[in-house]
Amino acid sequence: MTSTVDVLVVGAGLSGLVAARRLQAAGLAVRLLEARPRVGGRMVSGTTANGAVVDLGGQWGGASHHRFEALLQELGIGRYASNYAGKGVFHWQGRRLEAPLAHRFADSLLFFEPEALDLKPAELAATKALQRAFAQLVAQVNPRQPWLTPAAERLDRLTVAQWAAQHSDLPLAQLPLDWLCRLGGSGGFEPWEASILHLAWTQAVAPQAETPEAWLVRGSAGAVPPRLAAELQALAPGSLLLGRTVQAIAQDSQGVTVVDGSGQIHRARAVIVAVPPPQRLAIQFDPPLGAAHRALLQRSPMGMMTKILATYARPFWRDRGLNGLGIGDRPALELTADSGPPEGTPAVLACFVAGERALNLGALPAEQRRRILLDDLAAYWGPEAAEPLDLLEQDWNAEPFSGGAFTSFLTPGSWTGPGRLAAGPQGGPAPADHGRVLWAGTEVAPRWPGYFEGAIEAGERAATAACAIAGGGS
Ligand SMILES: Cc1cc2nc3c(=O)[nH]c(=O)nc-3n(C[C@H](O)[C@H](O)[C@H](O)COP(=O)(O)OP(=O)(O)OC[C@H]3O[C@@H](n4cnc5c(N)ncnc54)[C@H](O)[C@@H]3O)c2cc1C
Repeated sequence: MTSTVDVLVVGAGLSGLVAARRLQAAGLAVRLLEARPRVGGRMVSGTTANGAVVDLGGQWGGASHHRFEALLQELGIGRYASNYAGKGVFHWQGRRLEAPLAHRFADSLLFFEPEALDLKPAELAATKALQRAFAQLVAQVNPRQPWLTPAAERLDRLTVAQWAAQHSDLPLAQLPLDWLCRLGGSGGFEPWEASILHLAWTQAVAPQAETPEAWLVRGSAGAVPPRLAAELQALAPGSLLLGRTVQAIAQDSQGVTVVDGSGQIHRARAVIVAVPPPQRLAIQFDPPLGAAHRALLQRSPMGMMTKILATYARPFWRDRGLNGLGIGDRPALELTADSGPPEGTPAVLACFVAGERALNLGALPAEQRRRILLDDLAAYWGPEAAEPLDLLEQDWNAEPFSGGAFTSFLTPGSWTGPGRLAAGPQGGPAPADHGRVLWAGTEVAPRWPGYFEGAIEAGERAATAACAIAGGGS
């Protein structure tokens, strides 16, 4: 039986939910189809054994994430500043160095005051020189049309690792870019998996210098999608269907026909597809996507990421003047961050295992994984850190409808190849809308792709485009 609405939305992550909310506010009948048995996608909370609510996916908002800030305000959800007071720990080549953070990311060695780290002056000088060269490159990147950046083809065929090695063969000098590839907000990939043009583009459109980890959501960011879903359902019961994997989208001159995994057929005047790029490939489109679009999707894998949440009775590191920011070359954890509220409880260290480390860790038995993670936590924060109340692991690589995290990246040569040919009027990796099929999802946003902020902007843009087709009031 066919069921008809004005606009269909595929994917109930933040982007799809925001789009559906906009469409509903414009007076349109909307239906959201979500493959998982829950909403939120990469924005999801979990509860630890000791009852703490934590973010298994994204958690931070940034100083210039105004859309996300406004959404929380509308929902009456509070925020608090991330805790960076005191010293962090830089763990490098077996040495544990405590140091204060720099005032500006641009002047830092991965957030730290470089001069406060007890490192060899010659190595520090080489590190700064490489960072300066990268900053100059970022400043030259054309954010909308990276293929028009000076020397784009050469830069797109050179991996981050190759470019860095041309400047210095010192591991310390190469660390900041390696780390941005794996742990930067657009990351999850290894420095040999993407081009230097791609990394520079991520910093041009989502700059670490704008402090994207400035604040946290009271309660948890993962509480936002269920709130949006509840509002949607309250206004129009039945407007959200869970466990509905969209398999096929066909369009004709009157509208779109969408088939989900239960066999149900949905009809609408337009459809917004708000899924990560590789998931678009799993949907059969009629007429099919253009060759360049498909080629781009095939060259847009997801990053590899496992998030670890270690919870404690209290934030014992704060008592010692430490802020919980741990960065280093440990076997698993390259980043730990105090993610608890100012009052201290729940006391949470959010930790990240990225790139090949994440895959290697995921291949080990649970007991061995736990030992490695606790060793790393103790290396940063002392023996108390090895006795958490709970240690939660969220392996994003094992999630079929995400396929990895934080976001997708382009493989070498893809910007100047299919990226250039597939680009739509928005630029970046966003292809032109496919007739009545409109693209959303964080990855197609012109600013902050890979972040909540980008997911919201992309959802809002697609909703406006859908209104133009379906005749809504905004
Ligand atoms: C560990 C981690 C940490 C992060 N940290 C931050 C952070 O601190 N700050 C920040 O801003 N961002 C962060 N992010 C990124 C942020 O979570 C994402 O950018 C954002 O949530 C993406 O939203 P989205 O709606 O675009 O995509 P998604 O959340 O991926 O939503 C897409 C939805 O589509 C569904 N779907 C897929 N295929 C189909 C199909 N065929 N049919 C129906 N439904 C389908 C999926 O199940 C999913 O629910 C992080 C992400 C992770 C995983």
